[in-house]
Amino acid sequence: MINVTKSYLGNIDKFKAYVDMIYASHWMTNHGPLCCELEERLKEHLGVRNLILTNNGTLALQVAYRALGLSGSAVTTPFSFVATSSTLQWEGIRPVFADIDPRTWNIDPEQIESRIGSDTSAIVATHVFGNPCAVERIEAIAKRRNLKVVYDGAHAFGVRHAGQSVYNWGDASTLSFHATKLFHTIEGGAIVTQDDDLAREVRKLCNFGITGVDRIEGLGTNAKLNEFSSAMGLCVLDDIEHIFEQRAEMGHYYEQRLSGHFDLQGVHDGDEINYSYFPVGLLNQAEALAVRDALQEQDINPRRYFYPSLDTLDYLQPQAAQPHSRGLSQRILCLPIYPGLARDIQDKVIDTLLRQREKPQDTSLAHAV
Ligand SMILES: *Cc1c(COP(=O)(O)O)cnc(C)c1O
Repeated sequence: MINVTKSYLGNIDKFKAYVDMIYASHWMTNHGPLCCELEERLKEHLGVRNLILTNNGTLALQVAYRALGLSGSAVTTPFSFVATSSTLQWEGIRPVFADIDPRTWNIDPEQIESRIGSDTSAIVATHVFGNPCAVERIEAIAKRRNLKVVYDGAHAFGVRHAGQSVYNWGDASTLSFHATKLFHTIEGGAIVTQDDDLAREVRKLCNFGITGVDRIEGLGTNAKLNEFSSAMGLCVLDDIEHIFEQRAEMGHYYEQRLSGHFDLQGVHDGDEINYSYFPVGLLNQAEALAVRDALQEQDINPRRYFYPSLDTLDYLQPQAAQPHSRGLSQRILCLPIYPGLARDIQDKVIDTLLRQREKPQDTSLAHAV
C-alpha cells in the first residue's frame, strides 16, 4: 500500500551508535546530552532564538497556551488537524472559529475581527500544509486588540517567510515531530519563541514546574523529550537537505501536471514552502471520494486532510458555520509525497485524477459545495 506519507528512517548504523551511547551513559531522558544537542542544532538550522523540545506537538500547544496565560476564548481556524482546537478546549479556552481564505486555506484575517469578543485572549492560527499565514495582518490585529498570537507550525518545518523562518512570527510557534511529519523524532515537538522570559516559563512548565533541586515553583506538566527520540531527530536532521530536495522535486512535478486542472493551495510570492503535503482541491465531495476509491483500487491511499471541518465537531458547539472550511474539507485530498516515492506512482495518481476529471456526468449528481 502506498500511503500519503512514509516515515523517514535515516542510517541505522548511525542510530545504533547513538543507542550505544545511551546504553553506556544510562541517561535516557530529562534533558540529556542528545536532547541538548538536538535543541542546539535545530535552533541553528531553523534560525530561531529559543527552541524547547517537547514530547509531542499537542503538549507543545498546551504548554504554549499556559505559558502565555491564555484564558476565555481564542479565535482559531476550523481547517486544521483537530489538535489545534482540542488543546484549547482541553485547557478551558473556548475555540471560536473564523473562516479560511479560499485561496490560501489559512485563517482569513478579514474574518478574525468580527470573532473577537470581550473574553478573547489570543489568535491561534495554523500554517496549514506549511503555507505561511498572513502573519503581518494577523499580528496587526493582535496588536490593536491586545491579543497573543500562537502559530501551530506543525507543518512548517524549514518554511521561510520574508527571508527567515516563519517560526519567528507570533508570541510562540509550536512544532510537531510526529513520525509522519517532514522532520521527526518518532514522537516529539517543540515550542519556538523570541521571548527569553517566555522560553524560561516554557521550560519550567515542561518539567513539572521544577526549577532546581528541591525547588518547585508552580504548576507544570511532563513534556520532556527522551534520548532515543532525540537520537532519531539527530539522524533525520543529518538528511534534511535530501528530504527537502526530494519533496520539492515531487511537489513541482505534481504542480506541473495538475495546475490548471485542479484547485491547488495559493502561496504568496516569496514564501518558501516545504512540500510536507500535497493537497488538491477537487470539484466537490463526490469527485474527491471517486478519486479516492479509484486510487485505493490501485493500492494508493490518499487522505482527507482535513476532514471534517472543526466547526462541525459536537464537543465544540455552538459555533457559526464556516462555509469555506466546510466546503474545502469535503473536497480535499492529500496525495502521496515522501522521499523515495517512485515517479511511476506519481504518474498513476495524476492519471487517475485527470481521468476522473474527464467524467463530468459522475459528479453532476453530487451536492456541489
Ligand atoms: C500533527 C499535528 C499536531 C499534533 O502533533 P502531535 O505531535 O501528533 O501531538 C498539531 N497540529 C497540527 C496542525 C498537526 O498536523
